[in-house]
Amino acid sequence: MSRKITMAIAGMHIESGTFSPLRSRMGDFLALRGDEMLTRYPFLADKEFTEIEAFPLVHFRAMPGGMIVREDYETMKQEILDCLRALEKMPDAFYFDVHGAMTVEGSVDAEANLLASIRAVLPEGVVVTCSQDLHGNVSASLVAMVDVMTTYRTAPHVDWMETRERAVRLLLRCFHEKTKPFLAYVPIPVLVSGEMSSTEYEPGRSLYAPIAKESTTPGVWDASLWVGYAWADQSRAMASVVVIGNDRNAVKKLAEKIAQRYWDARTKFAFITEAGPVKWCVEQALASEEKPVFCSDAGDNPTAGGAGDVTATLKFLLAHDDFLSAKRSAIFASIPDQAALAKMISAGVGQQVEVELGGKLDPVHGSPLTVKGTVVSLIEGDDAQGVLKCGGVKVIVSGRRRPYHLRQDFLALGLDPLMTDLTVVKIGYLEPELKAMARRHWLILSPGGVRADYWNLDYRHLSRPMFPMDQDFSWQAQAQLFGGES
Ligand SMILES: [Zn+2]
Repeated sequence: MSRKITMAIAGMHIESGTFSPLRSRMGDFLALRGDEMLTRYPFLADKEFTEIEAFPLVHFRAMPGGMIVREDYETMKQEILDCLRALEKMPDAFYFDVHGAMTVEGSVDAEANLLASIRAVLPEGVVVTCSQDLHGNVSASLVAMVDVMTTYRTAPHVDWMETRERAVRLLLRCFHEKTKPFLAYVPIPVLVSGEMSSTEYEPGRSLYAPIAKESTTPGVWDASLWVGYAWADQSRAMASVVVIGNDRNAVKKLAEKIAQRYWDARTKFAFITEAGPVKWCVEQALASEEKPVFCSDAGDNPTAGGAGDVTATLKFLLAHDDFLSAKRSAIFASIPDQAALAKMISAGVGQQVEVELGGKLDPVHGSPLTVKGTVVSLIEGDDAQGVLKCGGVKVIVSGRRRPYHLRQDFLALGLDPLMTDLTVVKIGYLEPELKAMARRHWLILSPGGVRADYWNLDYRHLSRPMFPMDQDFSWQAQAQLFGGES
């Protein structure tokens, strides 16, 4: 039996912005070390991949958040490098498993910084593959350091596992064909948010739909399109395309075609649902004859990097006559606040408490809110949560920043959006289960670190011109070429 292809794997996966005062710390990351990491790549057990001998080093993954504190980033990076140096023999290949929109204090291109350090340890010629989230901000520096890269083709993301698998399959192809592909990279001067670019709606749907088929163009191995991440004030924040393959002209041509198509559709990007100020959204929602209805408290969406404890929208609900009088019912998901939750837990279910809620993780976009209510539900343990009933509003208070994407997240707390007049979630577009429940949905243009009307943010470092901040400029897709067997 011939010698196996050795592949080390490591990465840091986070989407972190520059507009939130929140900081991400090492403790926010779930670290998987050694064989624990294999749960991320079950496909490696398939017959197709038996020629690979994997060396999972360490992988750090966190919920979206604010910038990573520099020393915490350096500590995680050092662990990756130490694990790599500790290998008995350097690998033939390296899988750089990242999100692509990581922001670190004092670094403008964190993924490139991390990969450069890894490359400095790896011997020359090691084949590097990279998988990303389509909300990553790609840079020429990063593309220059990888041999293969690919990204998701769906938002909401349902193809994360097949993307990882594709990243490794493309890597194998380098070994089978004894070549390294060309990479054609096109940065596109368009920056839209996730809320405007779901692949379930136009124009996202039509921009992404052809990519799988286009990846089978002769001479092309794979095509990737990134929307980018709008809440990072960096020159690499924008949409981009990377097409890889062994035919220099074919990859260039296809990359420019996909990029030009994206540019041509730029004015069609819009919120996928009606958006407006909180008062307008709530009025619309309460007047809706179709139920159930959802509103997104989008400016403080923790799953896009918001702190999650901005209280502006909650404050409006609690002061609303229909909710004060409990004539109408609402669920508010959620405010992460350990101190408030501890007070609720010590009081117990059925008891009245007064708490200073939220405004601590993000004191810039809001302040703590004094809330008096009855504790109606508690979950203790690692993922502690509780529900505080204030008039008609049931407020979920969580011990940590966490998403509420699943119906079960609500049912576990004795809450049911299907039986409630209005459910407000700190989210952008609705994740599949919520979307399936919602008959109507409004996006609240609320304050926070990831405000949905991002074009009003005070960008200082963005490449200009950039659509939609700049409107009146022309642009022609032109690919930069990297890689190829020399
Ligand atoms: Zn994403």
